[in-house]
Formats: sequence, structure tokens, C-alpha cells
Amino acid sequence: MNLIADMHCHTVASGHAYSTVQEIAREASNKGLEMVAITDHGPSMPGGPHCYHFGNLRALPSEIYGVKILKGVEANIIDYDGNIDLPERYLDILDIVLAGFHTFCYPNGTVEDNTKAMINTIKNPYVDIIVHPGNPEFPININKVVEAAKEYNVNIEINNSSFTVSRRGSEANCIRIAKKAALIEAPIVIGSDAHSAFYVGTFDKAVETVKKAGIKEEQVLNASRQRIIEFLENRKRMK
Ligand SMILES: [Zn+2]
Ligand SMILES: [Zn+2]
Repeated sequence: MNLIADMHCHTVASGHAYSTVQEIAREASNKGLEMVAITDHGPSMPGGPHCYHFGNLRALPSEIYGVKILKGVEANIIDYDGNIDLPERYLDILDIVLAGFHTFCYPNGTVEDNTKAMINTIKNPYVDIIVHPGNPEFPININKVVEAAKEYNVNIEINNSSFTVSRRGSEANCIRIAKKAALIEAPIVIGSDAHSAFYVGTFDKAVETVKKAGIKEEQVLNASRQRIIEFLENRKRMK
């Protein structure tokens, strides 16, 4: 599976990541990626950027070292209604919006609470990708979440860092998510979730999981430049 874009990367603006946009773009270029999404954490993450950070992303070029830069956010789901921590006027000007549960940002609930929160976030028309839903810290009803993602055409992320440095114990859930997505042909995206430039475009564990589950390449958003462009255009937010 040839992935042409990394849809999930953090810069120093996230408060706990260690590279600049320029370093990420250079690494993406060196690894032969065509696009990279800059997706710093939303404002409710301790040490995260202010809303203004997202309002001013126009200060960045749309292409660096020949790599298309998608200006985005990894927003935090903040309640059981599925609200996220960036106002619509900012979401409206971004190329891509990721959202998910994070410690310190979301009042962890029961499986029912978390499933309701995640499905309500999926229903938010600004949200393109649900990140690391396999995190065992925030248990969900996997079948219901993947079915909702399919219904609303929101991409479910298989996050490479969930197999390596983050969210220990995610693997079994990620496999279940991938199998369910394969079964109903739900849209999938693979992200590195790099918190330093060295891991931009590192997808090996996630790709292995997706392949084992029987997910088709046509289901994977970032396996095709055209698919990404069409997806974003359909959502009328390719700027
Ligand atoms: Zn995250
Ligand atoms: Zn992230």
C-alpha cells in the first residue's frame, strides 16, 4: 500500500511536540510524500495553541519543498454531546479537521457516554477524521462508531503511534476497528501522529494492521492524492 500523504502531524505549537512546520515538510519531501497535514492540538490541550494559531495558518505557504501543506487541527472532543474545542469560524477556514478524545480535555465516561460523544462528533459536518478511536482509556462501542463513520463518510484513523509510543494497549481495539471497517467498507485513514519530524510518514504498523484486516486500498483516504482532493472538495473546504 503506497501512502502519498501523512494526515496527522504535530509541530512545536502543540506544546508537547518537537519540530517545526519546515522540518516536517522537509521530512515529508525526503520520504516522497506529496502532502502533509499539520494538525496541532486544539486549544483545550494543556500547553496547546490559542484559537488565533488556527486563524493565522494562512501565514504558511500552501506548498513547501514540493509538498502540499494541509492546514488543520486535531481538535479535542470536550463533552458527551460531541462538541469540540475550536469554534466554527476557525473550523471553516481549515483544510482538514481531526477530532478525538484526549486526557485532560474530555471527562471520560462509560462506554455509552463515550460512544455517544464520538458519534455526535462524527455528525459534525466540519469533522473529517476521528483519531485513534482504539484508545483503551476511552472505551467505545466499536461497531456503532464504525457504522456511524460509514454513514456520515467520516474517516476512521488507524494511528501508527498507537502501536508504538502512545496509548498503550490499543492494538487489540485497532484490530477490531479495522476488521469492522473492512466488513462494512467504512472509510479509513492512516496517520503517523508524529510528534517529531523523524516519524513523519511512519506507517508500518498501521499498514500491517489494515492489510491483515482485509481493508481495500480504495477505502484508505491517503492512498490516493485524487481521493484526498475529492474528499476535501466534496466537503467544500479545499482552500
Ligand atoms: Zn491525539
Ligand atoms: Zn495527534
